[in-house]
Amino acid sequence: MATTKTAANTAAKKTATKAAPSKTTKAATTKAESTPEESEFQEFFVDELKDIYWAEKHLVKALPKMKKAATSPELAAAFEKHTQETQTHIEVLEQVFELLEEKAAAKKCDAMAGLLEEANGIIEDTDAGTMIRDAGLILAAQKVEHYEIATYGTLAVFARTMGRDDVADLLTQTLENEKATDVALTTVAEGFINEQAVAE
Ligand code: FE
Ligand code: FE
Repeated sequence: MATTKTAANTAAKKTATKAAPSKTTKAATTKAESTPEESEFQEFFVDELKDIYWAEKHLVKALPKMKKAATSPELAAAFEKHTQETQTHIEVLEQVFELLEEKAAAKKCDAMAGLLEEANGIIEDTDAGTMIRDAGLILAAQKVEHYEIATYGTLAVFARTMGRDDVADLLTQTLENEKATDVALTTVAEGFINEQAVAE
């Protein structure tokens, strides 16, 4: 019985494997320019754009709160600067949607929701007017920037692979700004904040 079942499964698998290429050929003849693989990938790509669009739209609202919570004017200024830059990231994504002839729509990004929740937790857990607060805020902000760097880095590579250099260039532009922000936050932290936080 067991042997028969295995044989039947193998036969079924073989049929499935054989069926796959012919299906592809059929679809490819109806869609001359884009293969089914490409269009499915584009759908996935657009979905990921909606995810980072949600993330940016929520980050732009969270950054002013982080600025308000910051102790040092240096960190407040860094958050202020990145609020404006994040607004640009939103606009760049809208440009990308337009280039792809897709409607700009946001889809909840669980990762950014979690990172912003964590930032709120740090504000709750630290005292206002301390450098521990600032050190914590920088930690939270750098986690956000690293998430954005990973996202834009991968999406830019995807776009380039899809032959969309126009989209890839826009995503790379934002990627470079996220990287610069991360470096700027490290500079603020290592300037005096970390040392003072340790001494508190
Ligand atoms: Fe951003
Ligand atoms: Fe950012």
